[in-house]
Amino acid sequence: MIKFKNVSKSFGNIKALEGISFEVEKGEFVYITGPSGAGKTTILKLILRELQPNSGEIVLDGVDITKLADEQVPFYRQKIGVIFQDFKILTERTVRENVEVALAVTNVPQEEWAGRVNQVLKLVGLSERATLFPNQLSGGEIQRTAIARALVVNPKLILADEPTGNLDWETADALMDLLEKINKEGKTVIMATHNEMVVEKYKKRVIKVKEGKMASKEKAPHMEKEPKKEENKEENEEKPKLKVKVEEV
Ligand code: ADP
Repeated sequence: MIKFKNVSKSFGNIKALEGISFEVEKGEFVYITGPSGAGKTTILKLILRELQPNSGEIVLDGVDITKLADEQVPFYRQKIGVIFQDFKILTERTVRENVEVALAVTNVPQEEWAGRVNQVLKLVGLSERATLFPNQLSGGEIQRTAIARALVVNPKLILADEPTGNLDWETADALMDLLEKINKEGKTVIMATHNEMVVEKYKKRVIKVKEGKMASKEKAPHMEKEPKKEENKEENEEKPKLKVKVEEV
């Protein structure tokens, strides 16, 4: 579904990412891990087209998104639901209105809004809280409101940036259960985290970055099925050149 090919991104002199390559398949749930400053958020922002890389390709569903025209970006973003650490909930709006905000920037007709909002509030267990304001909610309920908002546009891909960062264990567990449920319903989930306890407890494939570089990468499932072919391809990179030399002689 998504492929990073040798992606680099600098901010002035700071090399945030260097030669990042990985692949995430449709329907997968993967972690991007690494210490603070490793480049995790930058990867998510690149997927969102909030940032453009200095070099490399980012291919989503066969399209190199770095080449999208600016006017196509809002439509592209409708494929993606984003869950931030600070949730970005509007304090003056009810739960229902906070979720509706996400629909307001799409071309979903207004008569469909109520049905869609009811559906996602049910999924996250907030049907009874729809008319409450954020200051009437618990931390876990605020976070579930944010997840409902991410889901209401029916995205294919969920990006979560340190979603357990500000949460106690019980609430973090509930969040992980919900993300797993969403994943089982067919959404691809990419979650940036440095919470090792979460990674250990809820085992998923891990893409590890350190100081902007790939630290380790477990292969995407389809690559596991044909390990020899892929390994040979990488190991024997020099061979075709040798062959050319022989032919020239
Ligand atoms: P992480 O999410 O893993 O903590 P980030 O992707 O936020 O890491 O940051 C990676 C590196 O890029 C850090 O050194 C950070 O200071 C730098 N960086 C990120 N965004 C900017 C920016 N807008 N301007 C300058 N430097 C940035």
